[in-house]
Amino acid sequence: MKVAIDGPAGSGKSTVAKQIAKQRNLSYLDTGAMYRSVALTCLEQGIDLANTQAVIAQAQAIDIRFEQGDTGQRVFVNDKEVTSQIRTAQVDQNVSTVAAIPQVREAMVALQRKAGEKIDVVAEGRDIGTVVFPHAEVKVFLTADASARAHRRAVEREGGNAAQQDVATDVAEEQRILEDIVRRDNIDSTRETSPLVPAKDAVHIDSSHLSVDEVCAQIEKLMDEAAAKKASELQAGAVMDDTTTVTEQQPVAAKDSWESYYETKVQDFPLHARILLKVLVVLCNAYTKIKYRWTIENLKTLLVASADRGVVVIMNHVSFLDPFLPACAMILAGRSLRPIYKDDFNRFGILHWVLPRLGAIPVARGTADVKALRRAQRALQKGESILIFPEGTRIRRPDQVPQIHGGFALMAKMAKTDIVPMAIVGALDITPYGKHYPRPKKVYCRVGEPLSFNDIKAKGRKEQVVEMERIATQKMYELRDQLMAEHPGRK
Ligand code: C5P
Repeated sequence: MKVAIDGPAGSGKSTVAKQIAKQRNLSYLDTGAMYRSVALTCLEQGIDLANTQAVIAQAQAIDIRFEQGDTGQRVFVNDKEVTSQIRTAQVDQNVSTVAAIPQVREAMVALQRKAGEKIDVVAEGRDIGTVVFPHAEVKVFLTADASARAHRRAVEREGGNAAQQDVATDVAEEQRILEDIVRRDNIDSTRETSPLVPAKDAVHIDSSHLSVDEVCAQIEKLMDEAAAKKASELQAGAVMDDTTTVTEQQPVAAKDSWESYYETKVQDFPLHARILLKVLVVLCNAYTKIKYRWTIENLKTLLVASADRGVVVIMNHVSFLDPFLPACAMILAGRSLRPIYKDDFNRFGILHWVLPRLGAIPVARGTADVKALRRAQRALQKGESILIFPEGTRIRRPDQVPQIHGGFALMAKMAKTDIVPMAIVGALDITPYGKHYPRPKKVYCRVGEPLSFNDIKAKGRKEQVVEMERIATQKMYELRDQLMAEHPGRK
């Protein structure tokens, strides 16, 4: 389970998150400490924070590690302990400037997702429920009035217990902290990238007049409710696994809601969506064919494999062009191909409107997104194919190590179907890393032979999925390498 606790400085996030993590035996992720570590490193190295490129370079190179010590969590940067150094007034004053730089956030969010990817975690910060883990089962937006927050921070700084009421502090220091908190709130909530705003589905808790235990109790209640809901969803899904009758169900024309587009066959979409899809496919096919003269070798193999059932198509990912080529080829040949896309795109209103109408299905990266798996399974069982990029993101730089997301093999296993590997080469040369304007370059795709679970030797469902994931990924890269060898210098 992922628990996201967001809110302004001093609202009690850390205390509450730590206590819940301890009580429920979950990991604890303090994302503020990560931005603080970047700020501290820059300050120590005398980097002018106005020199954005230098700050970004630090954020991209930084090695941050957390360790559980006797007195709480310890923070290490490049193996040096900085637990207390990141909490100084100087870091307080500079951290929000660093955290407002989009590329710094990108680097930190990647680290945060990696840290929390496969574990149950209570993560606290400013953008956990909106950006880092948008599919967290529990989202809380914790607030408190500014003076209460400043008082708590002042007590903490003087080594006291902020959870206790009526602890006296140095008035001048508390005033300084109050001013800093108000200033940071302002920067954090008005910055362009991932500002401090509550997620739409976050539960708001005002901790001004609540004890730590009271806040924790409210959050734990939400956790219990979420766990119960998930268990009943999984149970419903398991029933569906055994009764593969989805194909026989009456097609329901999609009502105009996002949810219904994910669950309805593309051919049963409302008229406006079907026209939109056809027009876009025809235009996109014509434009990209003229401009990039792309070809898909062995397309027939894919058309045959998907003739009477849905298959899972996997492909390497280098550019935004990638999904359009197999989708155009399949749709123009009368097949349905539903791309899986990262749900981060849904934050852009227009994409949230368009993508479902084109049959695309969102997935929350970095989590076991059962909902997306089930949607894909149901589409496959209805005879629609799925396009998925196991690398999860575009691989554009030579030093970028792809991280394979194995959900595709599980999807195929659940739907009892094959995986068709595919590769694309040349699309990265259109807009190479660091360039902004597309160049007309020829693009090559190749389809490999379908891979069936019947040919997988491993015993046990889980082992088979892992083995299929390995073989399919290997085939995909073999196809890519063949294309690269045949077209030297092309990426
Ligand atoms: O939570 P904490 O006060 O330690 O965070 C320090 C600063 O780091 C915040 O004021 C904010 O500028 C930044 N931050 C952020 N996003 C997060 C966590 C912290 O921008 N998820």
